Amino acid sequence: MNLNPPLFKEGLSIFRPTWVEVSGSAFSSNLQSIRTFLGPRVKILAVLKANAYGHDASLLAPWAVKSGASFIGVSSIEEGLAIKKLNLEVPIIILGGIYPLKNFDVVLDNQFIPTVASLESAKVLNDAAQKRKQKAAFHLKVDTGMNRIGVSVEEAKKILTWCVGQPGLDLQGVYSHLSSADSDIEFTKKQLKEFQALKDFSKEHGYPSLIFHLSNSAGMWACPEAHLDMVRPGLSLYGYSLGPISGKVKLLPVLSWHTQIVFIKKVRPGTPISYGQTFKTKKESVIATLPVGYADGVPRRVSNTGFVLVSGQKCPIVGRVTMDQIMIDVTGVSAEVGTNVVLIGKQGQVEITVNDWASWAETISYEIFCGISHRVPRILKENL
Ligand SMILES: *Cc1c(COP(=O)(O)O)cnc(C)c1O
Repeated sequence: MNLNPPLFKEGLSIFRPTWVEVSGSAFSSNLQSIRTFLGPRVKILAVLKANAYGHDASLLAPWAVKSGASFIGVSSIEEGLAIKKLNLEVPIIILGGIYPLKNFDVVLDNQFIPTVASLESAKVLNDAAQKRKQKAAFHLKVDTGMNRIGVSVEEAKKILTWCVGQPGLDLQGVYSHLSSADSDIEFTKKQLKEFQALKDFSKEHGYPSLIFHLSNSAGMWACPEAHLDMVRPGLSLYGYSLGPISGKVKLLPVLSWHTQIVFIKKVRPGTPISYGQTFKTKKESVIATLPVGYADGVPRRVSNTGFVLVSGQKCPIVGRVTMDQIMIDVTGVSAEVGTNVVLIGKQGQVEITVNDWASWAETISYEIFCGISHRVPRILKENL
């Protein structure tokens, strides 16, 4: 049995040989590549929501700070609290709306920077901060075409005007979100133009230095005019992009997913594999079983369509993905109980990417990342 050293890292009790490795240095390198692409003037908000897209936010947040992120973005108070525990010197922005509004108290207790997406919530925040004799920093969310949360540009102008001189409020930034940065540059430019008009308005109405931010990863690569004062990359920090990236930039995958063969057998031609007998061997075959299933985030859609790496070769997933285990065909491949298997990542020169998984499962890379469940331990490959 060839158990891998990372399984026995200090403080982790890992008995089942299925784990994710996260590379802090790859994450750091991606952030620095983005910095080089942006130039020195544009700030970076590192988006670590959804547990850093399944990578483990508490492992990567220190790398984000060390590599020069000005802010960390999360989607909820809960996610903010997980990062706050680390005591990093970095402001945490909650990108989701705050609801119920009494939660602004928790936001203030923890010095989080909330998103405000209505006049009503601005008023509640103002009152809550005044009771504490504080000025609450916040960012105003404006809708320029995503139609998710945010006030219209016209409403934003009213709120900007109202906020000037409110004793409890310290408006720090204004942002909007692109809906189609990877697919529709004309629409993206339309969103930018509307947003830019608000920036001009704010300068004329008592706000000389608000942080205006608009771009996610795709917008950042596709539309440099949209960098404004800050960008909000998520996916590209983890080494991927939906569209083309700048030719000079090389992004490195941060996550790799590993398991080991726990069972192996030779079977006759015509042997059915897994639930429903959706796969039958065509010839004498060697079938291995891996301790990973849909409860770990292997989509059931990759049944009979996906591959994993064994001894540097791509081996097909055969039969249906089950809750806790999958079967693979390792006929002609060097494999035994204990052999290392890569689900996402490289073995030698061969690589399986999260994009491969997304195409087998007919979804996007984001959903594959976020789908890797809590059951799979995340191990940081390097120390800071
Ligand atoms: C998720 C998110 C991002 C990051 O998007 P990517 O496509 O992963 O770069 C940026 N801004 C907001 C408001 C988001 O919700």
